[in-house]
Amino acid sequence: LTQLFRPLDMLGMVYRTIRQGLIDMAAMFKLMDEPQEVADAPGAPALVVRRPAVTFDNVVFGYEPDRTILHGLSLEIPAGSKVAIVGPSGAGKSTIARLLFRFYDPQAGRILIDGQDILGVTQISLRKALGIVPQDSVLFNDTIGYNIAYGRDGAGLAEIEAAARGAALGPLIERLPQGFETEVGERGLKLSGGEKQRVAIARTLVKNPPILLLDEATSALDTRTEQDILATLNAVSQDRTTISIAHRLSTIADADAIFVLDQGRLAESGTHAALLRRDGVYAEMWARQAAEKDELGVAAE
Ligand code: ADP
Ligand code: MG
Repeated sequence: LTQLFRPLDMLGMVYRTIRQGLIDMAAMFKLMDEPQEVADAPGAPALVVRRPAVTFDNVVFGYEPDRTILHGLSLEIPAGSKVAIVGPSGAGKSTIARLLFRFYDPQAGRILIDGQDILGVTQISLRKALGIVPQDSVLFNDTIGYNIAYGRDGAGLAEIEAAARGAALGPLIERLPQGFETEVGERGLKLSGGEKQRVAIARTLVKNPPILLLDEATSALDTRTEQDILATLNAVSQDRTTISIAHRLSTIADADAIFVLDQGRLAESGTHAALLRRDGVYAEMWARQAAEKDELGVAAE
C-alpha cells in the first residue's frame, strides 16, 4: 500500500515546493485537481491588461488567523516601471508575490492590476499576465526544449529558439549534440545554477507576460554569474512592469522606485539616491552590506 501512495506523496511534495517557489501554477492545478484555496468568482471576466500597473491598497494578510504578516500594505507600481522590494528575511516580500498570483487572498484591502481587482477576474487570465523567475527554478526531468516550452501551451520551435536566444542560452545549446532535445535533471545533463536560471528566463520569455516578478532570482548565484544573469534580466524586462525582490541591494540600486519592507509594513520608499539621503532603514542596510562586502574582499585576498 505504501508503494501505491508514494507517487501521490511525491506529487503533493512537488505541489508544495512549486507553490512555495511560485512556478506557473495553472497547469499544476489542472494536473492535481486539488481543491483550490481561492476560487474564481461566478462569471468572472478575464483580466485585460493594457497598462500593467500594479496596486496594493491597504492589504492585510496572514497565513494563520492569529498572525498577521502584512499590516495594511499599500504599493503603487506604475505600468512599465522597474521597482524593487527589499527588506530583511521574513519581512513579507515573497508573500506579496504569492498574493499577486492569488495563491492566497488578502483578509482586507485590494490588489489591482491595470485597475482591475484580481479577486474579480479568472485565475487563468491573472496568471497569464504574470511571469516569475524564482530563486531556485524547478526544472522538469525532461528536455531543455520541453522546459522552455512549458511557459506557454503550444509554443513552437521558432518561439523556443527565440526565447533561448533572449535568455542567452545559445552558446549552451550549440555545445550540446542534441540541442533542445537534451534531457536535463536526474536523467540527463546537470545544469549549473546560472544555466537553470537561464532556462527559467527563457520559459518566461515564451510566456511573454506584461508583468515580471523576480524573487531573489540571482541570490543563489556567485557574483560573476549574478552579473551575467542580471544583464540578461535587464534586457528581458524592457517593455514590462518588473518587480524585483532582492536581498542584495547592489542588484537593484538602479530601480525606478525601491520599497523597503519591514515586518509587513512599508518602512520607506524612493529611489536609491533619495533613500540614502533619508538616512533611514535603507541607508543602514546599504552601509551594512557595503561593510560585509569589504570584509569578504579582505578575506578573499
Ligand atoms: P520574505 O520573502 O520577506 O523573506 P515571506 O514573505 O516568505 O518573507 O514570509 C513572511 C512571513 O510569513 C515569515 O514570518 C514566514 O515565516 C511566514 N510564512 C511564509 N510562508 C508561510 C506559510 N505558508 N505558512 C505560515 N507562515 C508563512
Ligand atoms: Mg522570500
